[in-house]
Amino acid sequence: MVAFHSLAEMENQLSKAQKAQKAQKVEKAEVAQLPVTCLRGVGPSLAGKLERLGISSIQDLLFHLPLRYQDRTRVTPVGSLQAGMEALVEGVIQGARLAFGRRRSLVCRLEDDSGALTLRFFHFSAAQKNNLSEGMRLRCYGELRRGATGLEMYHPEYLRLDADQPTPVEECLTPVYPGTAGISQSFMRKLCRLALQTLEQGELAELLPGQEGRRGFALVEAVRYLHSPPPQAPLQQIRDGRHPAQLRLALEELVAHRLSLETLRRQRRARGAPNMAGGLAAVEEFIRSQPFDLTVAQQRVVRDIGRDLGSGVPMSRLLQGDVGAGKTIVAACAALQAIAAGFQVAIMAPTEILAEQHWRSFQDWFSPLGIRLVCLTGRLKGRQRRQTLTALAAGEAMLAVGTHALFQDDVRFRHLGLAIVDEQHRFGVHQRLRLSDKGESGLGRPHQLVMTATPIPRTLSMVAYADLDCSVIDELPPGRTPVHTVLVDSGRRGQVVERVRAACAAGRQAYWVCTLIEESDALQAQAAQATWHELQAALPGVTIGLLHGRLEAERKAELMAQFKAGAIQLLVATTVIEVGVDIPNASLMIIENPERLGLAQLHQLRGRIGRGPDSSHCVLLFQQPLNPQGKARLGVIRESDDGFYIAQRDLELRGPGEVLGTRQTGSLEFRIADLRLHADLLPRVKQLADELLESGGDRVDGLMRRWLGSAEHYGGV
Ligand code: ADP
Ligand code: MG
Repeated sequence: MVAFHSLAEMENQLSKAQKAQKAQKVEKAEVAQLPVTCLRGVGPSLAGKLERLGISSIQDLLFHLPLRYQDRTRVTPVGSLQAGMEALVEGVIQGARLAFGRRRSLVCRLEDDSGALTLRFFHFSAAQKNNLSEGMRLRCYGELRRGATGLEMYHPEYLRLDADQPTPVEECLTPVYPGTAGISQSFMRKLCRLALQTLEQGELAELLPGQEGRRGFALVEAVRYLHSPPPQAPLQQIRDGRHPAQLRLALEELVAHRLSLETLRRQRRARGAPNMAGGLAAVEEFIRSQPFDLTVAQQRVVRDIGRDLGSGVPMSRLLQGDVGAGKTIVAACAALQAIAAGFQVAIMAPTEILAEQHWRSFQDWFSPLGIRLVCLTGRLKGRQRRQTLTALAAGEAMLAVGTHALFQDDVRFRHLGLAIVDEQHRFGVHQRLRLSDKGESGLGRPHQLVMTATPIPRTLSMVAYADLDCSVIDELPPGRTPVHTVLVDSGRRGQVVERVRAACAAGRQAYWVCTLIEESDALQAQAAQATWHELQAALPGVTIGLLHGRLEAERKAELMAQFKAGAIQLLVATTVIEVGVDIPNASLMIIENPERLGLAQLHQLRGRIGRGPDSSHCVLLFQQPLNPQGKARLGVIRESDDGFYIAQRDLELRGPGEVLGTRQTGSLEFRIADLRLHADLLPRVKQLADELLESGGDRVDGLMRRWLGSAEHYGGV
């Protein structure tokens, strides 16, 4: 139980921070950067808990903003209380007793002029029971619910009122903080209050240039307002994240973030890189030898990359192109330029299936040119693996295609000049940087090309990829037939199976994709297996393959080869086939439970078909009932085949984490900013960041230190 008075007591204590400030003669602006242990009452154990919340400095506490607020600024008459609301009430105790229901509880009746309610405690001490005596005046705060005796408050916070002396109510709204990891709300409030007190001594310096600090909220005011807003604060606006105080903080955070990426980019560019201008002729020759002409967009991107590779400055280029836009051949052009200039190339794919597919494509392209290439996946073991590593280290193999296996410490290159990461949204920033670390030698920093089929809305790439140059293939190769997408209720599964039979009978191939919300390979595999059995029984004349993540890599490769050769007509698969797989004869795809997947993922999956001359169909076999959001999402997929539009809608519907696929890596988590709510700030963010970089100086460092702390900014250079 927490009573109000213990908090009031704490208020009066002088914080250790203020003393530390005096002792160390810390500059005013830096008080907030002192560790939390400078606050009175914060020892190592509490500091450990705070650490888990990402709080290590006083400033971190200041930016740890409340989730919501409680109104304890006025007393609500008991008669006007309703279940579900939270309220501050005052009354006189009419008796307390033990109740023996399903659980023993202490029950206390509280009455004011307008009515009565019950306070109920399931955990209580003997002293507490004796203290709540008849006739005592209490002030309580809690949530009202309907209980055995009518309106009840379970475990309210309460304060005994002194009859002679008025006890003032709170002047400001009371903050409720997010996830407190074993720290009570009241203690968290106390800590934040102490942190705010330090502000009175040493202000948080205004680091943004121009009027930003003066217009609307200054940084200090904004922080103070959000921790303890006045009673009349516009709560809805705060809930929407659109209060000027929030905008002020979000703006600054986004500026700091952009500065860190821009700094990273500048540091990277300050180093030299291999010059590959000499490889351009080979690329032209290669393009001429292709059975098709490159699209205008592909040519433009090949030129961009060609220029970068010949510039002597490390390239960091993001290549975006919708599913099927033809990024692989562009990667091949880049690789060939590097190889022709005498440098090794590494290409990394997120799955074994995709790595093997790339390996075959690059073999077809490069083996005739006498280029030796190797494939390095987890499946390569023993002597073969050793030979492969030797060939790379000796510089005999010029190209390595692989998965994460390329990262392993014992993988060394002789002269890596270019690292290409395909479907980069599947990798964290750290991973993608690690690959180019393989190349640091006397040659300079390797060039980097990262490719993604998940188009990134401009607003988002301004923040997430500010350290990269960007090229877009905004045109599909000619002769593609758009995929026709339909929504079918799972109740009509029989008809869908019939449709698969007809397609296979007509010589076409199909995918049947099983999805499961669980992130477990084992469960996914089970579900796919069950569907496979079911479809085998339903479609006796059709050869059906089963592909899931639990199969041996060999088996997966074999299945894909059989499917590609047409020996398998229907491939039942989990979302392992999501990225990159290119089998043009497959023209029908059934996706089960599409409502469980994100839009980008659905678009990726659907991109496996529509690659050949036949008109293609995608059936989204959804489960009723669909909630309105689910309906909206599937509607977007049915209506549009444009990856950029779909990504924009996905951003609006599900937020940036899903769109970027960074949920696991957490590389785009802000404390205050939310790209769904604050995208309109981004142009201003860019402007401010440019201004700051222009004028140089301590503000840039100050902002990055303030918002990104000592954490490495995106994994270093
Ligand atoms: P993605 O951009 O999704 O990685 P791919 O590189 O796998 O796409 O290309 C998809 C298909 O389009 C491949 O079969 C490829 O051979 C073919 N392709 C690529 N560029 C062209 C082009 N300019 N004209 C015709 N077909 C092309
Ligand atoms: Mg691809």
